Amino acid sequence: MRIPRCGPAIAGLALSLGALAACGGASGPSATGTAEAPRAGEPSAGGGDDARTPEPGGDAEALRGKVIVIDPGHNGGNAAHPSEINRQVRIGNGGKACDTTGTSAESGYTEHAFTWDVSNRLARLLRARGAKVTLTRPDDKGVGPCINERATIGNRLKADAAVSIHADGAAASEHGFHIIEPIAVKGNERMVPASLKLGRALRDAYREGTGIAYSTYLGENALDRRDDLGGLNLSTVPKVFIECGNMRNPGDAAKLSSAPFRQRIAESLTQGLTAYFS
Ligand SMILES: [Zn+2]
Repeated sequence: MRIPRCGPAIAGLALSLGALAACGGASGPSATGTAEAPRAGEPSAGGGDDARTPEPGGDAEALRGKVIVIDPGHNGGNAAHPSEINRQVRIGNGGKACDTTGTSAESGYTEHAFTWDVSNRLARLLRARGAKVTLTRPDDKGVGPCINERATIGNRLKADAAVSIHADGAAASEHGFHIIEPIAVKGNERMVPASLKLGRALRDAYREGTGIAYSTYLGENALDRRDDLGGLNLSTVPKVFIECGNMRNPGDAAKLSSAPFRQRIAESLTQGLTAYFS
C-alpha cells in the first residue's frame, strides 16, 4: 500500500501522532481539512436531500432534482468469474465482452476499488445538492453488470446525465486524465451533442479541481471520442466516460490511491456536473 499524499495540514500540526495516523490510511478520514469526507466504500444509500451543505462555486441549485447515473467501472468479483464477464454482448455496432476486470496500480490497488470509492463519494456530494443518484452496481464484490446493462440503467431512468468512472492502465511513462465522448452510431445519435457539452464541463472541472494533467497519450486536450464502447453506443441519455489517471504511472497512482485525493476528484466531478446543468 502506498502512503497517501499528505496535504499541508500535516506540517501545520507539528507532526503529531494523530496527524500521522490520519494520513497513513488510504481509507481513513481526510487529512486535508475537509471534515466531511466519507470513508472509502461507504454505502451509497441515504444521504437525503440536505441541499444546504455549503459548496464553493457554481449554482447551488443546478443539481436539484436532476437524475444522475454514476457507473463505477468493473467489479470486484469479475476476475473470479471469467466465463460470465467474457460472454459477448451486443453493443450496437458489434459485439464485446460483458465486462472486464480493469487495471491496478503497481501496489495492487485495483481500478474497481477506485471507481467504487470515487463513485460513492460523488453520489454523496450530488445528493447533498438535491440530485437523484443511482449507481449501476450495489457493491464492489459482485460480477458485472454487463456493459449493455450499465447503459440501459441510465436509459430506463431517463437520466439527465450519466458518467462512467474509470482509471487507465497505460504505459508507466504516460500520465494524465482524459474524457471519452461518444461518436454517433445507430441509436445514440440524439445524445451526442449534450454528451460533448457534458464532457467539456467535466474536463474543465477535473483539470481545475485535481490539478491532474491532460493525458499525454490519448485524446486532444484530454478529450477522446470512441464508437467501440457499449456504455456510450447504447446510451440514449447524455453520457461520457472519464479515465481519471493512469494507474500504471507512479505519480498518477499515488494520487488515485489517496483517499483525500479521491475526495478532491469527487468534488471536481460535482463541480463539473453543476457547471453542465447551470
Ligand atoms: Zn476501466
